[in-house]
Amino acid sequence: MGVRPGLAVLQVGNHPASKIYVRNKMKACGEAGLYSEHIELPAEADESTLLGRIRILNQDARIHGILVQLPLPAGFSAERVVEALAPAKDVDGFHPTNMGLLTLGNPRFVPCTPLGVMRLIEREEIEVQGRHAVVVGRSSIVGKPMALLLLQRGATVTICNSRTPDLGAMTSQADILVVAAGRPRLVTARMVKPGAVVIDVGITRLADGKLAGDVDFQSVLGTASCITPVPGGVGPMTIAMLLENTVMSAERTSAGRGSP
Ligand code: NAD
Repeated sequence: MGVRPGLAVLQVGNHPASKIYVRNKMKACGEAGLYSEHIELPAEADESTLLGRIRILNQDARIHGILVQLPLPAGFSAERVVEALAPAKDVDGFHPTNMGLLTLGNPRFVPCTPLGVMRLIEREEIEVQGRHAVVVGRSSIVGKPMALLLLQRGATVTICNSRTPDLGAMTSQADILVVAAGRPRLVTARMVKPGAVVIDVGITRLADGKLAGDVDFQSVLGTASCITPVPGGVGPMTIAMLLENTVMSAERTSAGRGSP
């Protein structure tokens, strides 16, 4: 009999954006026929309770992927929590073992957002080798793994951060520009090379309730050769890659390669 891939999502507290993200992930699991569990702990829960739940899920044969929704409430160490995950079930790819494998060029689970960006690039048949890719943002969740993946595909990569003195001087050199700063409309048309591929990872909810990306979509649309919208661009890809990583984990388990 076949294996039904299973994903557990742990959420602590009532962070409003997290609630929406978790709901979307659960919905996607249901639509794709995956088994899923949503485990909610109150904001007052302590870290040892969360670590205890992770240990149980690490051993649960129905669960092939475990995800801890970030951010965690104050007082929790995201580092300790991520390290408690069995690397073989770390479908978000944030465990140091999986980060290390990615850095060495031998990835197992790749963080879902940069993996989704690479999939968009592949599906659009965009040449990466020999091109100049500029990544804005250096977080462990998006910017750093994104830069590593582009590097592995043969791009020359520049990584910018909030201390980069002249961001436009960097972004305007990019053949492929990936923006993940969390600063609405940071990148405008004059910062983009004509014909560049522009991928907007940023999502910020503005005061009027609307979602905004890090790229000024309307102005850059006329300059870029391809551009992803927000919402509806990278976000859905992130969820698709989470499901793909969970299925891959189930396949690894049934092939006897699932142990931590
Ligand atoms: P983060 O806050 O951890 O990191 C932001 C990075 O951007 C930092 O390295 C910072 O140095 C850099 N930065 C900030 N301002 C800058 C500036 N003016 N110039 C250059 N660099 C600047 O955020 P994160 O977790 O990497 O997320 C980034 C954005 O991507 C957020 O808007 C987040 O909501 C979004 N996000 C989207 C998805 C998705 O599925 N689409 C997934 C994860 C994150």
